[in-house]
Amino acid sequence: MIIDMRSDTVTVPTPAMRAAMANAEVGDDVYGEDPTINRLEELSAQMMGKEAGLFVPSGTMGNLTAVLTHCTRGDEAIMGHLGHTFLFEAGGVAALGGVMPHTIPNQPDGSLKLEDIQDAVRSEDVHYPPSRLVILENTHNRAGGTVLGVDYTAQVAEVAHRNGLKLHIDGARIFNAAAALGIKAEALVKDADSVTFCLSKALCAPVGSVLCGSGEFIHRARKLRKQLGGGMRQAGILAAAGIVALQEMVPLLPDDHRRAHLLAQGLKSVPGLVVETDPPQTNMVFTRLDDASPLTGSELVMLAAEKGLRFGMVGERRFRMVLHHWIDDAAVTKAVDVLNSILNS
Ligand SMILES: *Cc1c(COP(=O)(O)O)cnc(C)c1O
Repeated sequence: MIIDMRSDTVTVPTPAMRAAMANAEVGDDVYGEDPTINRLEELSAQMMGKEAGLFVPSGTMGNLTAVLTHCTRGDEAIMGHLGHTFLFEAGGVAALGGVMPHTIPNQPDGSLKLEDIQDAVRSEDVHYPPSRLVILENTHNRAGGTVLGVDYTAQVAEVAHRNGLKLHIDGARIFNAAAALGIKAEALVKDADSVTFCLSKALCAPVGSVLCGSGEFIHRARKLRKQLGGGMRQAGILAAAGIVALQEMVPLLPDDHRRAHLLAQGLKSVPGLVVETDPPQTNMVFTRLDDASPLTGSELVMLAAEKGLRFGMVGERRFRMVLHHWIDDAAVTKAVDVLNSILNS
């Protein structure tokens, strides 16, 4: 048995999802006639406290669709320099939308300073591109699966709106953030104009994300999704898994967080390994090799893989381990044992 901690995207669908997929009622969604997609979009909107939702093939397309709906060519979108939208979406907003990313520093907790956001907003001047959008990421992946709170999000929305900008939340893991705070996800996106969340990460669905916002916003976003080639037909087969994800998997996320704690606790006793996320806020544990260790980062990754433990590198000697539904307590113990056996010898 391989223990795969590279990401929560490696999760495969649960038996309940496969059953729901096999039995899904479907229709042509470009005609708006797939009842299962319609149900998923309604349920998503309801859980986000928004008027409407739009099923998209990926989180990347959800964010891209949101940016293209909020902005036109030549506009600027303010985002963190460690944000997924800046680092890991292949520059789509620039390549396909002519939208200029204006990066400001992510703080160690994943937040953006309110002053930095305010300073990044352009004044009216013939030289400047118009500022149109602020993007927050919650949980913040590169910062270590960190959580942005309700009050902070409201403050960012206030700065954005006061300056005539919109706020989009890349909430790929917004349900992890909500679980960590013991609140409903709705509370974390209340002041945002749009939010994307992923069904295909810790929620175990095979494919898909949902973009939510006002009815008018989603109406426009639907056309952009079509332009991007994201109009799907009988994709209710996929949406059926998404509904199970929202109903059955969201309540289980605290288990992943508990196991992340367990893993961090265990790894603290492994010689040569430094646990950075201590304690982890959600389902991610970041570690690094201490300077004295004779191994390189890639050597450690290789040796662990040979013993059935997979995880990813986020720097030359830094690693990310992500907990998810298919990693149980025994697997956490085994992961610690594997690293102990490599680094203790
Ligand atoms: C995974 C992820 C996305 C994109 O999702 P894909 O479905 O992989 O395209 C966006 N933002 C964050 C923070 C993510 O972790």
